[in-house]
Amino acid sequence: MSYRQEMTPRQYARPVAAPGCSFANVRDRLQRAGLRPTRQRIAIGWLLFGKGDRHVTAEKLFDEVRAGKVHMSLATVYNTLHQFSEAGLLREIALYGSTVWYDTNTGPHYHFYIADRDELLDIPDSMVGALALPPAPEGMEILGVDMIVRVKSRGAK
Ligand SMILES: [Zn+2]
Repeated sequence: MSYRQEMTPRQYARPVAAPGCSFANVRDRLQRAGLRPTRQRIAIGWLLFGKGDRHVTAEKLFDEVRAGKVHMSLATVYNTLHQFSEAGLLREIALYGSTVWYDTNTGPHYHFYIADRDELLDIPDSMVGALALPPAPEGMEILGVDMIVRVKSRGAK
């Protein structure tokens, strides 16, 4: 969903500095999710939501925070990512043991994990449409389906 689709008529009417301005969008997005737009949350939100859908770990995002000369501890990055996912702004994807990835695309979709690059990629819906899923056990319903297909570059160890 794009920012434009999410905007309410009231927000359209408000004089925003520049349409598509990331900081204004991030602030609105945080507020609509019930999070107070602190400076740290806006900085992290801007890195996450400012350039299309992304998959990040706390460590990878922390590197970007430092490269942007923003002063923030790794613990703050962890906590903020967790708060964002609790508020429904991010989807958590657990990958092999303790690594947690955060996905800005919160809709249902599957992933490739590229082992030699340590990257997550969305699998296009058109590729998974034909997959047959087992029915839920008697008396239960499916909450969601997570699938990660592990791949590596040809020739990589
Ligand atoms: Zn994804």
